[in-house]
Amino acid sequence: MPQNVPDFRFGEDAIKLRQFLYEFWCARGYPPNLRDATEATGFDRRRLMQAYRELDLGIMVVIDQETENVNLLKCMPFSAYPSQARLIIDGRFNGYLGCAMEAVAASKMPPFAGKACHIEAYCACCLGPVRLAMTDGALISAEPQSTLVHVSLSPWYWNASTVIRMCDAMNFVLDRSHAERFERQAGRRGAIFTLAQAIAFVSRGVATRMWDPHRPPDFIRPAEIFDGLKALGVDTSVWER
Ligand SMILES: [Zn+2]
Repeated sequence: MPQNVPDFRFGEDAIKLRQFLYEFWCARGYPPNLRDATEATGFDRRRLMQAYRELDLGIMVVIDQETENVNLLKCMPFSAYPSQARLIIDGRFNGYLGCAMEAVAASKMPPFAGKACHIEAYCACCLGPVRLAMTDGALISAEPQSTLVHVSLSPWYWNASTVIRMCDAMNFVLDRSHAERFERQAGRRGAIFTLAQAIAFVSRGVATRMWDPHRPPDFIRPAEIFDGLKALGVDTSVWER
């Protein structure tokens, strides 16, 4: 269902809630609960639930749809549970990031403008350290410089029900040999992005995330994603036969 969702626009409730989620999470490094959300928005439980569901459909957040407290699992770029990447600003832990792609996107959030953002992550195969320094969405340094992003899930499966499996499939690797080792470990092939390609891939979304309060929903439309990846020079042949 969440692939190829027809065009829609967020209502004012969803827009207000999204802005609050960004501000709270950027400031504190952890997600708000329903009470925090009702204090900030004035919405009651049912109104909050509807706004969360709308944001989930538009791929701004991931909630556990079955829970009475609409448990908030992600508000991209942030993850409520431990992930492949930590965001460190001014030496302080500022939250887990959703995946390797969200890791290279996070420094573009308006509250972090001009700040040195450090991403502490690891290689998918050996858990060896990966460290990135980024400011305003631009890469300042990468350790090791050979770091790549391995994506082990075809866009035809992204957001089949939520983005959780898709995010889980987007991992840093130390280099191509570590990517190949991870593929043998996981029993799955994947496409490889250079850091420059990963940054370019997320650039359109991060240009408006939190910058534009009326940013429209995201949509997973696999055929269009393939066109975009090919334009970036990503080798997608691994998913095509
Ligand atoms: Zn490794």
